[in-house]
Amino acid sequence: MKFLSTREKNQNFVNSAEAIKEGLAPDGGLYLPESIPTLSLDEICALADIPYSDRAAKILSLFLTDYDKDLLTEDCRDAYSEERFPGGPAPLYSLPCGTEVLELWHGPTCAFKDMALQIMPKLLSRALTITGEKRKALILVATSGDTGKAALEGYRDVDGTGILVFYPVDGVSKVQKLQMQTQAGENVSVCAIRGNFDDAQNGVKQIFADEKTAAELNEKGIFLSSANSINFGRLAPQIVYYISAYADMVKKSAIKAGDKINVCVPTGNFGNIFAAYIAKEMGLPIDRLVCASNSNNILTDFIETGVYDRNRKFHTTISPSMDILISSNLERLLSLICGPEKTAAYMKDLKETGKYSVSSEELAKIKESFSGYFCSEKETAEVIKNTYEKDGYLIDTHTAVGLGCVKKYISETGDNKKMLLASTASPYKFSQDVLASLGIDVPADGLDALGVLSENTNTEIPRPLAELKGKAVRFDTTVDREEMTATVLSFK
Ligand SMILES: *Cc1c(COP(=O)(O)O)cnc(C)c1O
Repeated sequence: MKFLSTREKNQNFVNSAEAIKEGLAPDGGLYLPESIPTLSLDEICALADIPYSDRAAKILSLFLTDYDKDLLTEDCRDAYSEERFPGGPAPLYSLPCGTEVLELWHGPTCAFKDMALQIMPKLLSRALTITGEKRKALILVATSGDTGKAALEGYRDVDGTGILVFYPVDGVSKVQKLQMQTQAGENVSVCAIRGNFDDAQNGVKQIFADEKTAAELNEKGIFLSSANSINFGRLAPQIVYYISAYADMVKKSAIKAGDKINVCVPTGNFGNIFAAYIAKEMGLPIDRLVCASNSNNILTDFIETGVYDRNRKFHTTISPSMDILISSNLERLLSLICGPEKTAAYMKDLKETGKYSVSSEELAKIKESFSGYFCSEKETAEVIKNTYEKDGYLIDTHTAVGLGCVKKYISETGDNKKMLLASTASPYKFSQDVLASLGIDVPADGLDALGVLSENTNTEIPRPLAELKGKAVRFDTTVDREEMTATVLSFK
């Protein structure tokens, strides 16, 4: 399978190992496979009889054709082991209303990003071998909290890689800070910077663009690489769980083989929901994809009007991982629907004016698959409270946005096909906002909030969060933004 950029038509193709090693195409576009492989209904249903790791290896091997299949299986078995995902990587929970909740947060950092970031570092490590790369890949990450920790857990002690994470010293929660400061692993480093998330991100971007730093690192046998969701290596593992969930739903008789389902995804960067779209294009019987947003409802407007306009107020919400005004992965959908030339033009418009609009034919094609809804902060809190009080099921703020949108979609359309909802984080990851939504007094300390949530709801604190209390801090350096380059150069 060859990969090509979302933006350029007559270009050099790369193989999957190169696409994963490079992350971004040379023209600034994102990599897409030249064609989308298909699966028959029988092949999909047969997945129910094998473990998740083998389902993942099977599906990934359709895209990563230059990878050795046995090594891929080995890597997936390690990435999705019982030790890393107690109880299984992607279990289903049935709500009384009929919605099936796909719990994607049983991994080491309690959010769905683990589903990709546990396997992607291994895919990169293999890519270095496949492409004959002798240098070490140093992963640089600027984080507002969740991605940094998930990347640290994924890359720790992976051959041929190192990882350095920068976070704003006062810009992450206490739990998030402790999660990073206590990180284990021989090839990891974490550094706070004086400034906010934008400072951290801009600093990292500058380092990536700085040729002098690249040359100095090159002399030491190091090149820089990134872990964010524009890399196809992060997207591909997300396709797996939608197909896996369908097989499981048939097995437990929630649906019959061949029945169409709808899928709702709490969305920020459009990576997770785009993976569901690829699954649909591969032949998974999905009818509609419901794109759920919080008050940063730029995607709801886009799906409604065809106009993508980031010139709007940015809202800080209780579902912070969806507080995004530029959904990078939307570019991949545009490329499939509008073609590379128009995609390049739209991206140019976005860069220059903060805005672009697709044609009415293109919008009609998008609407064939996608519906967009959003929930306000108040609605999100009410969904958490109602779902807990009526159904006895505790959900986090992001999943609550999704469930609120499921309810809006069903009441507006009357569509009663089976709904699959992606649940993207453990409620414990956002304990304070979950407590506030339930109307329970919120302790000021994030670690205390874990205990209060557990006592009040009779649920268990996930082990990785419960263990934070006794862990020793390994990384407590704080530097000025100007010192970030020096920090990178001194990475060992
Ligand atoms: C990252 C994240 C999202 C958004 O996913 P995208 O792939 O960026 O659309 C939703 N919920 C949680 C908890 C996340 O961490």
